[in-house]
Amino acid sequence: MSRFLDVGVASLVPYVPGEQPKDAGYIKLNTNESPYPPSPLVIAAVKAESEKLRLYSDPETSDLTAAIAEFYGVGQKNVIAGNGSDEILAFIFKAFFGEKGAACPDVSYGFYPVFCSLFGIKYKPVPLDENFMIDASAYADVTDNVVIANPNAQTGIYLPLDKVEEIARSRPDRLVVVDEAYVDFGGETAVPLTKKYGNLIVVQTFSKSRQLAGGRVGFAVADESLINDIKTVKYSFNPYNVGRLGIAAGCAAMKDREYFDACRSKIIATRGRVAYELAKLGFTVLPSKANFLLIRHGGVGGEEMYRALKQRGVLVRHLKDERIKDFVRVTIGTDDEMDVFLKKTAEILGELK
Ligand SMILES: *Cc1c(COP(=O)(O)O)cnc(C)c1O
Repeated sequence: MSRFLDVGVASLVPYVPGEQPKDAGYIKLNTNESPYPPSPLVIAAVKAESEKLRLYSDPETSDLTAAIAEFYGVGQKNVIAGNGSDEILAFIFKAFFGEKGAACPDVSYGFYPVFCSLFGIKYKPVPLDENFMIDASAYADVTDNVVIANPNAQTGIYLPLDKVEEIARSRPDRLVVVDEAYVDFGGETAVPLTKKYGNLIVVQTFSKSRQLAGGRVGFAVADESLINDIKTVKYSFNPYNVGRLGIAAGCAAMKDREYFDACRSKIIATRGRVAYELAKLGFTVLPSKANFLLIRHGGVGGEEMYRALKQRGVLVRHLKDERIKDFVRVTIGTDDEMDVFLKKTAEILGELK
């Protein structure tokens, strides 16, 4: 730390992303990326767009918001795009949460409390129930704004849409942000509810289900007045927040529905098979509607499992949060990758005996 660092920044505990090893030898099941490449249409669009990199990108990201609006049947004015959904979330926290604070599940996406400390926002963790499920009724008494991930980060557990609606309806004077990073793997999106609830913001990303984690594209859908408020932050920070390549990639990915459906169907099928095999090996597997599984084995600790797999060339994620420290989180890769993961896992368990 230099002697120049602002005291407010010195006290921040930053978000720690999963490892991105330069060594390509690992089977990488640690950051919930897609194991499949982007659609060929995305690659062609990015190549064509690269000719125009001399020029700034469109600050309104119009082509991209039009493609998103068309996909979801909402108005283009109801959509804002960002440099990944992390940026969109940051804009939302900054725009709306200063006075009221943010209530979030105690086990969820690790960035929510980090944004709170960055922007000086009160963070209120709301416990998941004993089955690691979001308890919608627990939010009825909370006056803070609400941020939930659905399916939830880390657990993969999905909260039925009527429960999301209940949270939005119970207190119209606070905002409810639903982070749907994993919704395309078996959940139902709350986007249509944004037409009915002026206090609901749905956030999504192209990083997980659309093969573009490195493209950095995310978006939010909400009432036009909320989108305009978010734009006030964006235009006070980084007007060209999505680059030309991101816009081109995002547009093409949104339009290639066939490829999107093929990739997510494969992941859903692989997830079912892997969950079944893990249960046979004696693991507790939380019921996931995401592209990962949170798993625990009585015989091996979470940290130990993570290390043993890493030694065998498989990277998974171990999270240190108290409630899930006995688990590891395993991203669903290709069938071949998951076969290696299952084989190494069985090996590790075998050595314990
Ligand atoms: C991955 C993830 C994000 C971040 O997505 P980017 O668009 O890559 O910034 C946001 N929220 C949740 C719950 C995630 O899992």
